[in-house]
Amino acid sequence: MDSGSTAGPVPADQRNVRRHNLGLVMRSISVTGWSTRARLATATGLTKATVSSLAGELIEAGLLTESGAQAKGATGRPGSVLEVNRQGHAGIGLEINVDYVAACVTDLGHRVRYHRVECVDNRTEHTASLNRLARMASAALRAAEEFELTPQGIAVAVPGIVEPERGRLLRAPNLDWTDLPIVDLLAERLGLAPTEIWLDNEANLAALGVLWFAGGSAWGDFVYVSSEIGVGAGIVTDGQMYRGARGFAGEIGHVSIDPSGEPCGCGGRGCIERYCGQEAILRSAGLPTDTATSTGNPDGPVTELLAALEREEQRAVRAVRRAGEALGVGLANVINVIDPDTVVLGGIFTPLAPWLVEPLTAALAGQAIAAPWSPPRVAVSSLGPEAAVRGAAGLVIEQMLSDPARITRSGQGLGNNRHV
Ligand SMILES: [Zn+2]
Repeated sequence: MDSGSTAGPVPADQRNVRRHNLGLVMRSISVTGWSTRARLATATGLTKATVSSLAGELIEAGLLTESGAQAKGATGRPGSVLEVNRQGHAGIGLEINVDYVAACVTDLGHRVRYHRVECVDNRTEHTASLNRLARMASAALRAAEEFELTPQGIAVAVPGIVEPERGRLLRAPNLDWTDLPIVDLLAERLGLAPTEIWLDNEANLAALGVLWFAGGSAWGDFVYVSSEIGVGAGIVTDGQMYRGARGFAGEIGHVSIDPSGEPCGCGGRGCIERYCGQEAILRSAGLPTDTATSTGNPDGPVTELLAALEREEQRAVRAVRRAGEALGVGLANVINVIDPDTVVLGGIFTPLAPWLVEPLTAALAGQAIAAPWSPPRVAVSSLGPEAAVRGAAGLVIEQMLSDPARITRSGQGLGNNRHV
């Protein structure tokens, strides 16, 4: 896979090899954040001359920096240190949820440089919400510029079923939005090309958020399950999102654990969401069931629930324990089919974990077939409801790490750095 010299006109297949090798070098450095040319040659199997040429191109494109620091190379000779450039390119993440919109900027080293949340009820006609989202995107782009970062893309997390390749939201039941070309509508407002904006489901992006920003690579294959208003999941195997044949994988909220149970908005009965969704837990705890998220309504009933749990009020404790048991039964079904290493809890499950994990683990032990000799690990995401917007920004970063030739070719940022 060695592309060798690049002097003179380069045939298409050699350009593809070079493109592949640029990604190989970039990906190899991004794992540890730094390397030397000698180490890279060993890690990638490329010659040192090729690595030097590729590194030069990546430095010129602002993806890597070279410091004066010296490190021992594979041959024992010292070599200068190449690092991922945290002061070059950036990814912009956006999230639209039931009662808030969020934006963040992350650099190439996955550091969050900017994060804003605005509480607003989006359960209205979509125009005002998309105008607000565009204003937040513009503010994030200006923030990136102030940090002297060059944004290379925007990704948007939405609470619904999407077609990422067409940039369309098909259905967001909790927003009551149907069939919207979100990417086109946002691109128009920002004066960007639709190809510079990506769209994905919030649970998928939250799972990728915990993978890239919360040490998720240590969890092996995992199922990330979170609750706010709905219960969603993202399945990560071999460091990649499992999307299913039509992109709808992970709808764990609508896995039934009782076919004669309560009817669900999806048309089914006894769905997990009826037992472990925020509304179900609050109702069972005797608290108001305002359909608001803990982010959009930080002084709302979820905060009341947490206070009641801290006071060890039995009705609240029993409500969360029942949710933990139901979630455990539902997750055991998933585990018996896909056999992940870890179950990761996020969203409001993060603050509820001290009361939720024990009954959940007990239910898993009773239902997961391999539990007696290999119980699944249960982990708690530290990101809580921030995971989705981070995952969105991370999606842009991952595109750069996987295919740095996109940057080396254009040499410019989003909309050629033009934005509103
Ligand atoms: Zn359902």
